[in-house]
Amino acid sequence: MKKVAVAALLSTALVFTGCGQKEEVKNIETEKPQVEVNMDESSEEESVENKVDEEVVEEEEVVEEIQLSPEEYKEIGVNELGQVMVMMYHSLGEKNAAYVRTVEDFKKDLQTMYDNGYRLVSLVDYVNNNIDIPAGYSPIVLTFDDGHISNFNVIEENGEIKIDPNCVVGILEDFNKEHPDFGLEATFFLNNTPFKQKEYIEYKLNHIVDMGMDLGNHSYNHENFKEISSEKLQTTLGQVVEMIDGYVPGYEVNTLALPFGIKPKNENVKEYVYSGKYNDREYENIAVLKVGWKPEVSAAHKKFNYKAINRVQSGDGEYQFAYWLKDLENNPSKKYISDGNPKTIVIPEKYQENIKESMIEKFEIITY
Ligand SMILES: [Zn+2]
Repeated sequence: MKKVAVAALLSTALVFTGCGQKEEVKNIETEKPQVEVNMDESSEEESVENKVDEEVVEEEEVVEEIQLSPEEYKEIGVNELGQVMVMMYHSLGEKNAAYVRTVEDFKKDLQTMYDNGYRLVSLVDYVNNNIDIPAGYSPIVLTFDDGHISNFNVIEENGEIKIDPNCVVGILEDFNKEHPDFGLEATFFLNNTPFKQKEYIEYKLNHIVDMGMDLGNHSYNHENFKEISSEKLQTTLGQVVEMIDGYVPGYEVNTLALPFGIKPKNENVKEYVYSGKYNDREYENIAVLKVGWKPEVSAAHKKFNYKAINRVQSGDGEYQFAYWLKDLENNPSKKYISDGNPKTIVIPEKYQENIKESMIEKFEIITY
């Protein structure tokens, strides 16, 4: 299977190198796109070790591992320290806007990802560097903020309920049926009353988890964290953890999308973004997402910081999805390209010094 995937991607890889423009996008850091939030958070570099879930080292079934040759790595352009797009969506609606995507364009986005060699990985797998996609492909992560009804809408028809085929969950599931190798992964970041239809909250949250997708924290009341107290912060985060546990007992909420992309100014308060306690229940976030406007490095990269993960906004404008898709296509050496084996980190020799130290003992590092 993997060999087939490699062969299929080879032609694409060769096209990339054939017209590989070395012209990098310069100084984009200084030009920030217009969004409703405090983007200055993006400069924050907290050099903290990537917190991976060390206890969850599951015994995997023995599968045949195919190790590619250095020539094959080169041909495909394997780079497991490359950039990954963590997509940020909000609602689906009639017209495209800052945080709205039309149903048609959302479907197009998925097709574009699929056709360009992207395969879905979960946010947790991304931060744990557990990238299990075929050789030559690139991981992409989907996230949806605010629990809009357009993320998950249930329709009643003749006394039966069904999932609206034009809501995010319906679209993702249909797309996955037609393209099973794309995967079915997404994280829905929730506030109180997720997806609005109160009578179906329990069904919806359980359905998402049953389908292998994820639920994340977006604070109970969508507060601005800038001036918040540590007590209020732990309350609003803890309430979401408690709410989700009430609907899906035992489900671990360990990812957070910052409301408005804003962290507390006060350093002593800030630590409760990452872990805290509410009603005797502890929470710990292994991924904290900003609003962001650009791709993020691989979790195995020394610059990766789980406390401030960038996201790519949907859309066709500057510094949005279409822009970064093209940028990575034009600069394939920047892009995360998998070797097909989740247990190894394969990179061109020149990038060796960029590996995060903690990854060296957890993964087999192969340079070429
Ligand atoms: Zn929000």
